[in-house]
Amino acid sequence: MLENLVYFDNAATTRTDTKVLEAMLPYLGASYGNASAKYSIGFEARKAVNTAREQVAALIGAYPDEIYFTSGATESNNIALRHQEGALITSEAEHPSVLNTARYCQSKGRAAAYIKPDMSGRIGADNLKKAFEGTAAGRTGMGLVSLMYVNNELGNVYPISELADTAHMHGWIFHTDAVQALGHMEIDVKKSGIDMLSASAHKLYGPKGIGLLYVRRGIKKEGLLKGGSQERGMRPGTENAAGIAGFGKACEIAKESMKENAVREKEIAGFLKEYILKNIPDSVQNGEGERILNFSFRGINGTSLALRLDMEGICVSTGSACSLGTEEISHVLRSIGLDETLAEGSLRISIGKYNTLDEAEYAAKKISELVSELRALTV
Ligand code: PMP
Repeated sequence: MLENLVYFDNAATTRTDTKVLEAMLPYLGASYGNASAKYSIGFEARKAVNTAREQVAALIGAYPDEIYFTSGATESNNIALRHQEGALITSEAEHPSVLNTARYCQSKGRAAAYIKPDMSGRIGADNLKKAFEGTAAGRTGMGLVSLMYVNNELGNVYPISELADTAHMHGWIFHTDAVQALGHMEIDVKKSGIDMLSASAHKLYGPKGIGLLYVRRGIKKEGLLKGGSQERGMRPGTENAAGIAGFGKACEIAKESMKENAVREKEIAGFLKEYILKNIPDSVQNGEGERILNFSFRGINGTSLALRLDMEGICVSTGSACSLGTEEISHVLRSIGLDETLAEGSLRISIGKYNTLDEAEYAAKKISELVSELRALTV
C-alpha cells in the first residue's frame, strides 16, 4: 500500500527508516531488560540508551548529559515552559503545545506576551525587542522566551541566533521548539545560544512517542513528573529503550544525509510552488516555507480538497494535523491576518527525503484539476 501512496505530509509524520526499525527491534524482543537493571540483559538496553544520547547530542552540538528523553515535544515543551520561573514571551504562531502551556502558566499567575508575526509569517529580533519594551510581561525582570525554529504550518525558518541573543541581552532564558528543524537543517545549540530545545523523533524518520529536551548545563532543571531517578530525575519512568534507540539511529542518519536531502527537497518544493502559483488562478502561498509549503485557493474548502486528493492516493494536510477535523480556522493563518475565505481553502504540502519530482508533478496536476472541479461545483 505504501508504495502507491504519494505522501506529502512530512510535517505531520515521516515514514520510519528501515535502519531505524532494525535499530529498535532488539529492544522490542530479545533484549527486553530494563535499562536501569543491574544485570547483563539490562546493561544491553542501558548501552543502547547511552549510544542514542550520544547520537542525538552530536546532531545538535550538545553534551550527552544535556539531553533528556521524553515522550515527545509536547512533553518537552511543557517541561521547558512550566518549570522555569518568571514571565513568558512566545508567539501567536506556536504549536498548541507551547501556546496552551503559556496560557496555562498565565492562568497560574505568570505574565505572558504573544508576538504577532507579520503577513508573511516572519518574526525577527525587532519583534522580540518590542515585546520586551512594550508589554507588561517583557518589562518583568526575568523569564523565558519560547520561539519555534521552523513553523509547522507555514514552513518559515526563524532567526534563532538573533532571537536567543535578544533574550540573553535582557537576562532571559531562550527555549526553541525545533520539531520541524531537527534532522532537516544544521542546528548548533552552542553557536546559536539555545538554552533549551524540544524535538520529536517521528519528524526525522524515527519512531513516534519519543522526543527530547535539551537543557544547557547551568540552566535550572526540574521535570514535571515525580518518581524514580531515570533521566537523572528529570523524566522518571522506565526508559523506552526501543524508541530511544530508534531516535538515536534517526539522528545518526540525519547527520550524514540531511544536507543532500535538503537540496533535493528544495528542488521539489520549488517545482510545486512554481506550478501551483502559475497554473491555478487565485492561489497564494501563505508564509515563506521552502520545505513545508502552505497554499490557499480562493473559494475552495481545504478539507474537501484534501479528501479528494486522498482518493487519488495523495496525502496532504490542511493547516496542522492537530487541528484537522475541528473545522476551525488555523490559529497560525489567523495570526498572519489571512482573510477567512482564503484560510478555509488552505493546504499544507510538506516534502521529505522519500519524495520524487515525478510525485510532485503528479500531485501538482491533480491539485490543479481538483481545484477547478471543486470551483465548478460551487458556482
Ligand atoms: N511542535 C511542533 C512544531 C510540532 O509540529 C509538533 C507535532 N505536530 C509538536 C510540537 C508536538 O510534537 P509531539 O506530537 O511529538 O508531542
